[in-house]
Amino acid sequence: MEGLSDMVFVMKVESGFEFTYDFVNRAAMEGTDITQAALGKTIKEVCVRDQSNFLYEQYKEVVISKNRVTFEDSYISHTGEKFYSKTLLTPLFNDSGQCEQIVGVVKDITKEKVAESDRKIAWDRLHESKERYHSLFHHNSDAIISLDLNGHITNGNVAVESISGYSPSEYIDSAWDSFVVEEDKQLAEKLFMGAISGSTENSNLTVHNKAGDKICLSIKVTPLIINEQVIGVYCILRDITELLKSQKLLEESQKRFQIIAEHANDLITLMDEKGKIIYASPSYKKILGHDSQDYTGKYFLHNVHPDDRKRLEGVFIHSINSGESFTVEIRQYNHQNETVWSQSHGAPVFDNRNNFIHMLVLTRDISLQKEYEMKLKDFAFQDPLTELPNRRLFNERLNQALEALTGENKDELAVIMLDIDRFKEVNDELGHDMGDRVIVEFGRRITQIVREKGIVARIGGDEFIILLPNIGSADEAVSIAKDIQQYIRKPWQANDRQLYITTSIGIAMSQKQYNTAFSLLKNADVALYEAKNRGRDSYNLWKYK
Ligand code: GH3
Ligand code: MG
Repeated sequence: MEGLSDMVFVMKVESGFEFTYDFVNRAAMEGTDITQAALGKTIKEVCVRDQSNFLYEQYKEVVISKNRVTFEDSYISHTGEKFYSKTLLTPLFNDSGQCEQIVGVVKDITKEKVAESDRKIAWDRLHESKERYHSLFHHNSDAIISLDLNGHITNGNVAVESISGYSPSEYIDSAWDSFVVEEDKQLAEKLFMGAISGSTENSNLTVHNKAGDKICLSIKVTPLIINEQVIGVYCILRDITELLKSQKLLEESQKRFQIIAEHANDLITLMDEKGKIIYASPSYKKILGHDSQDYTGKYFLHNVHPDDRKRLEGVFIHSINSGESFTVEIRQYNHQNETVWSQSHGAPVFDNRNNFIHMLVLTRDISLQKEYEMKLKDFAFQDPLTELPNRRLFNERLNQALEALTGENKDELAVIMLDIDRFKEVNDELGHDMGDRVIVEFGRRITQIVREKGIVARIGGDEFIILLPNIGSADEAVSIAKDIQQYIRKPWQANDRQLYITTSIGIAMSQKQYNTAFSLLKNADVALYEAKNRGRDSYNLWKYK
């Protein structure tokens, strides 16, 4: 017993189920806290309470059953290690068949226990990894087929059937390239051979499905390697027929957009939310002379007239915030740094989650329109033939001048009315065009005499009118009238002819009690009428009675 590596305890069975230590071998003393001092003592006296209760029950069981009892236990050694043990309690009987002693042999089964637990962990892991593989293979939305080294299909997941229409019994054991269209068979062979030699290959491949339609697959072919040996091939397949279709549609729509953008007579500009230009159409070159690429990445106001920037920026920000489109007229510069009047229509573009993506702006050159607008404005106040102010503008100026006349002011104003003498004859003899030229030249000559002293207007036909707003006296007005008369008399060179033109002039001076535009014009007209009556080529000053 002393030579055994197992621990041995011999317990004496006393009356009333009491057990005392009779013998303890060396191994037991080395493995536990029990020493020679325990001999003759009960379990309860030697062991700690929990353990002693448990052991006591086991020993009692042996006495009652008169049979062997085995149990497993674990304990912490005095070095702090956990040990597992298996104990066999054997009863020893005396001649009268009474159990006198019980021999307990305690085997250390720690190693077996650890090995068993490791095995269980390994098994659990293996099981889990099998489950993972199963899930990855069967529940993958991509179709997966496995091939043997001859290129025959050995297995396929659910997605294979949904992509191809073939059931496993229809494709398993078939040569995988039998599904590939004729023109791609060589490619299929190349992919397979590549995988067999250990590399992973990617490509697009067209196959026939069960319905006979061609479907495009994106395919990844991977070697199946076990113990460093290729034992087969995995193919992962994805149907990209729809993807290719939409790609084609996208390409077509991009091409269409490009054609529109290239041939548009408008500038097409896309801006991000910070106002940075992300696209400028090629028409920038045609319309402004700038390369469209020069615009990309720049702030959208960079080529806008400084006076228009703030307004355009405000409109832009308001449009993003409100989601409303806008129309705005601005000035920008062409490559020669000339101002180009432009009209921009902008619309913010949002995605389906209502996030702003970009601002689309179509801009048109409206310089011509602007020019017409300006002309129209002038037409309202200008005589188109002579480009002198017309009656409307003259009346406005006359009223302003009359308002400016105050009681203390010594200055007066004069209105001089002129009418070309026998102008109808010019028209009749030399034609209407020559008549027009005479009217223009007449206007030019009187303007030259008047200069900045007053305003010359044509009020119709061969009739002109002059306003001299700040004049010291009637004499001054008469002197100007005389100067005009003289200048008009000077022969006019018209083509190869000399023309002799004269004019009749009526003058009316402002008078405090008659200071209305109407009375002044009427008086000047009457004075002119009298000058005509006197035989023309003369002036006449209206006399207040
Ligand atoms: P008078 O000495 O009395 O002024 O005789 P007149 O021939 O000049 O006659 P009047 O001033 O009454 O007529 C002006 C003429 O001018 C009448 C019309 O035929 C002509 N006329 C009016 N407007 C135009 C124009 O825009 N161009 C030309 N060429 N002729 C015009
Ligand atoms: Mg006339």
